[in-house]
Amino acid sequence: MRKIRVGIEGNGTVRIKLKKAGKAERSGVTEAGKTLPSPQTFSAPDVPTAGSRGFSLSYPLLGQMEIRVESVFRPKEPDVEVVYALTGFGRSVDHLHKFSSNEVVAHATPEMISYTAEKMVEHIRAERAEMPNLIVHVHSHPLGAPALSDVDKEAMPKVAATIQTIVPGATVLFGVHAIGREERRPRELPERVSLNKVRWSSITRLHEVAFFDEHAEPVEVRIDG
Ligand SMILES: [Zn+2]
Repeated sequence: MRKIRVGIEGNGTVRIKLKKAGKAERSGVTEAGKTLPSPQTFSAPDVPTAGSRGFSLSYPLLGQMEIRVESVFRPKEPDVEVVYALTGFGRSVDHLHKFSSNEVVAHATPEMISYTAEKMVEHIRAERAEMPNLIVHVHSHPLGAPALSDVDKEAMPKVAATIQTIVPGATVLFGVHAIGREERRPRELPERVSLNKVRWSSITRLHEVAFFDEHAEPVEVRIDG
């Protein structure tokens, strides 16, 4: 059966898209043999995507990233990982989506991470009027480095494939958000310290965030004020 999808573009034109069933329904049988529910597909708008040419984010968004990661810390409790997503259109992100920790897990098995990526897309869909075509999956490394672990590297192609099954044509990138130990320190504004990495300090934590594509290649990031 063919699905008919009707979307209203930003310029007011109505787009009708015929979509073959099956692409979405390929979906997941995990290695554990569990069948995952078929995700609904969403059309991303036809805007050029970031790809390997990188993307930009703003100081206000970096401020939200700082709050997202620092807000989970509690006195006298171990620092915990968080997952969030940055989304946008074309080559810039302009929105942060936070996820509840019981729905999205950072360092479980790659199959579990891929499964929870579907939940992420549901959140994104619910929070944005139009499905973005640039989705950056970010997770934190408390007291760690902004570098990919082996589990991260194994999971990323599966997460990208899962998201792209639900949002065909979307660019999916990844970020690792490292946070330092709590200590009183001077605030330092975000700056790009290498092609794919930004660094700043809040008054209590050093933050370093590095961005990669699904194959663990560095992706250029720019701060656009
Ligand atoms: Zn990691």
